[in-house]
Amino acid sequence: MRRFLALPLLPLIVILVACTGSGVAVQTTPTPSPPRSDAAIYYEFEDGVSDADRRIVPEATEDSRRYFAEQLGRDLKLDITVETTLEDGEGFVGTSFGRRATLMTGSTGWPGGDGGNARRIKGNIIAHEIFHNFQSDLIYTDDALPSDSPRWIVEGSAEYAAARYESDRFDRNWNDMVRNYERSAREPLPRLDDNTLRTYRFYAKSFLGVNTLMQDRPLSDLGDYFDKTGYMDWEDAFFETFGESPEAFVDRFESSRG
Ligand SMILES: [Zn+2]
Repeated sequence: MRRFLALPLLPLIVILVACTGSGVAVQTTPTPSPPRSDAAIYYEFEDGVSDADRRIVPEATEDSRRYFAEQLGRDLKLDITVETTLEDGEGFVGTSFGRRATLMTGSTGWPGGDGGNARRIKGNIIAHEIFHNFQSDLIYTDDALPSDSPRWIVEGSAEYAAARYESDRFDRNWNDMVRNYERSAREPLPRLDDNTLRTYRFYAKSFLGVNTLMQDRPLSDLGDYFDKTGYMDWEDAFFETFGESPEAFVDRFESSRG
């Protein structure tokens, strides 16, 4: 899955749609020792990748793995490879297919150096791609995409999970982050369940859909959803996890946007 980055300061988005919140506080308290599997992460660096990125990529990859393991209550099951290249993704800064994530540090959305903002933005990008690996190994043991879930859920949930990681690890105000996405997702835009768009603004809308779906839910609900899509139709998994049909949710979300 690709992550489309239109504005340098706003990492892009992915999506989720969802359903009603439970009304209880979000569970963000980390467990003392997150589950840890034997899955290995291999790193590949193209010649010429900066020393800063050779440090930051493994650090942020390990840290986001730890974070998602804590939040989801389960670790990666399968080995993955994180490849860091000098490519320009021409709007995309990272991709993740199967068990391989690729970071394209020649893209304008990939900041240089290892200052605080650069670390934060790179951390978000890496967390997004690592979450795709969690998605896919909850479902498949091969190189398939994570279920047949619509793009707004696949990309919106990776973006949402990365934003939660950024907020917790870099002390970013969640409401400010959501407002940034709101600014990027000004209507008119296609409905959330329109699967044809790959623009930055539609990614932002997808994030907002997942944010509405999740409300005060723990991130593990997303893990449960993707897990269920491994053995049932995604619409059924959606209903079982979030308590309403995808159609009902999208209607509710769209009408809330006036
Ligand atoms: Zn993505």
